[in-house]
Amino acid sequence: MSRPRKNTVHWFRKGLRLHDNPALREGIQDSFSYRCIYILDPWFAGASQVGINKWRFLLECLEDLDKSLRQLGSRLFVIRGQPTEVFPKVFKEWNITHLSFEEDPEPFGKDRDASICSLATDCGVKTIIRTSHTLYKLEDVIKMNNSTHPLTYKRFLSVLAQMKPPPMPEETIKPDLIGHSVTPVTLDHDEKYGVLKLEELGFDIDGVHPVIFRGGESEALTRLYRHLERKAWVASFEKPKMSPQSLFPSQTGLSPYLRFGCLSPRLFYWKLRELYKKVKKGNEPPLALHGQLLWREFFYTVATNNPNFDTMIGNPMCVQIPWDRNPEALAKWAEGQTGFPWIDAIMVQLRQEGWIHHLARHSVACFLTRGDLWISWEEGMKVFDELLLDADWSVNAGTWMWLSCSSFFQQFFHCYCPVGFGKRADPSGNFVRHYLPVLKAFPTKYIYEPWLAPESVQKAARCIVGKDYPLPIVNHAVVSRTNLERIRQVFKRLTVKANLSIPRDLGSPIFKYTKGLTDVDVEASQAGIKAHPHTEEGTAH
Ligand code: FAD
Ligand code: MG
Repeated sequence: MSRPRKNTVHWFRKGLRLHDNPALREGIQDSFSYRCIYILDPWFAGASQVGINKWRFLLECLEDLDKSLRQLGSRLFVIRGQPTEVFPKVFKEWNITHLSFEEDPEPFGKDRDASICSLATDCGVKTIIRTSHTLYKLEDVIKMNNSTHPLTYKRFLSVLAQMKPPPMPEETIKPDLIGHSVTPVTLDHDEKYGVLKLEELGFDIDGVHPVIFRGGESEALTRLYRHLERKAWVASFEKPKMSPQSLFPSQTGLSPYLRFGCLSPRLFYWKLRELYKKVKKGNEPPLALHGQLLWREFFYTVATNNPNFDTMIGNPMCVQIPWDRNPEALAKWAEGQTGFPWIDAIMVQLRQEGWIHHLARHSVACFLTRGDLWISWEEGMKVFDELLLDADWSVNAGTWMWLSCSSFFQQFFHCYCPVGFGKRADPSGNFVRHYLPVLKAFPTKYIYEPWLAPESVQKAARCIVGKDYPLPIVNHAVVSRTNLERIRQVFKRLTVKANLSIPRDLGSPIFKYTKGLTDVDVEASQAGIKAHPHTEEGTAH
């Protein structure tokens, strides 16, 4: 008896790429036919809380995949519907024997995949699931840490140090792998399975902002090589210091591509390592070379078995803080109407372009939560989730908890001043002028504090504060001190109550009231190192 023919469906979700896609490779290998599908329910899509830029990015990723598949004599099938309805149909219609997909490390995705796996089993379909969204198989990291997730980044690094480096990226899909395998495509393919247009998701495309981050694997690879060239050029592997220019989107920004899986973290990891060895004459790179990628990995690891990672209540990782409910202030923050130009410019950039600098994220997150407005990090996370192209369930929730002093894994208690930090980040004020044209004619002296400008200056700038641009929503000097005290009380009660081993800095006079920090200081803080004293301007005491 001859073996039944292998007919594969590869299910794309994240991992929107042909390079380093082990599940896809295995699915195609020795198959008689293969089809790559993406399942999307236009109704749910249109009704979801996901902004237009993010949908556009996704659709561009799918277009790019379709283009690459065409070059291989195949096509992408975008199937309208829900996975639980779609699979029984396609299994039968296409006589499917194998279903391949990339492992989803997030709790929601794991649940969904478990039910699809049992559905496949019921239909007699074998599943091929491989890890490639993260550097490591997260369960291996957890196992190495006595079967619990590491609580701190430092611990996480020490666990990784005991493990082998992550697997090398797998080769991209090429004709030799496909061999004689076919993708049956019908004449009505475009009509039935073509990539959707934004309009079909119910978006009004008038007034949509020009593309800054084009979605797709092709663009991701171009950016990766540009990123590496830049690193080689400066021959330094530290995170570049923040400059006013770095506030604007760069041609080397990679986060949206990692988020959607247009870029493999393993390819990034190994290319960086290779480059380091070349530039540093064969020296083995330190683990810290991959710091940024390892932070991503860390948040994925701590979130993978915690379905409540994105909420305060029911989340063992999260400190319970009695935040205020203040929908009005939240809306002003989200719309860039706080009256603090530094904060508002960042929020406008976020809404228009879908990406903001890491330290800009720090500023607005601190402002919304423990710094000024005392609103829960969950609210800010939701706004980021809607607007950020790179918004990622694990990383977004993890960093919001971090910034709001809500988790045990941070040792980071600086309060950013929404005036001073902007001044330091961009002394020219041009970043503000770019995103808040209403303040365009304001002199640099007042650009971060327009309410202090004399009436004549406001008139000359054709912008009256309180009328054309809002007055500041809070008195920062007052609220930030009150809030710092509130945070201190929360942690004090916690230490007493649970006798928890809270980082030494907490509850001690290390709580600083900082007007501005440099990138280096922040990175240092993230690494658990105290910031340089010269950057700490005044304390809350
Ligand atoms: P680079 O500095 O070039 O870093 C390379 C890659 O490493 C990034 O693309 C990203 O995938 C990863 N990375 C970098 N910094 C971090 C970090 N601190 N934590 C985890 N991963 C990191 N990043 C996301 O990818 N998704 C999010 O949803 C997200 N939400 C954030 C929310 C807040 C409140 C804050 C403060 C930060 C958040 N970040 C998030 C982390 C970071 O700001 C972005 O990853 C970074 O700014 C992206 O720019 P880049 O690609 O040029 O990064
Ligand atoms: Mg970058």
